Amino acid sequence: MANFYCKWCGSKHSSVSSLTINSCSKNPEGKKHALYEGSEKTQYTCKFCGSKHSSLSSLCINSCSKSPTKKHQPAM
Ligand SMILES: [Zn+2]
Ligand SMILES: [Zn+2]
Repeated sequence: MANFYCKWCGSKHSSVSSLTINSCSKNPEGKKHALYEGSEKTQYTCKFCGSKHSSLSSLCINSCSKSPTKKHQPAM
């Protein structure tokens, strides 16, 4: 079964609809989770600084000095 991840907080959802109806505390553009559209990976890379993380959630919670939102954001 596929998993869907929020690109802002890294939370995992079993469907896109459950992802998009639930509120996200980390989304700077809105109040809901937004779908991470990249593929599921064993390592996630920040698109601003290139740092690597073993999960989307660990990427999303750590601060990034190069990101406009001050948090790492996943590259696709
Ligand atoms: Zn979220
Ligand atoms: Zn970063």
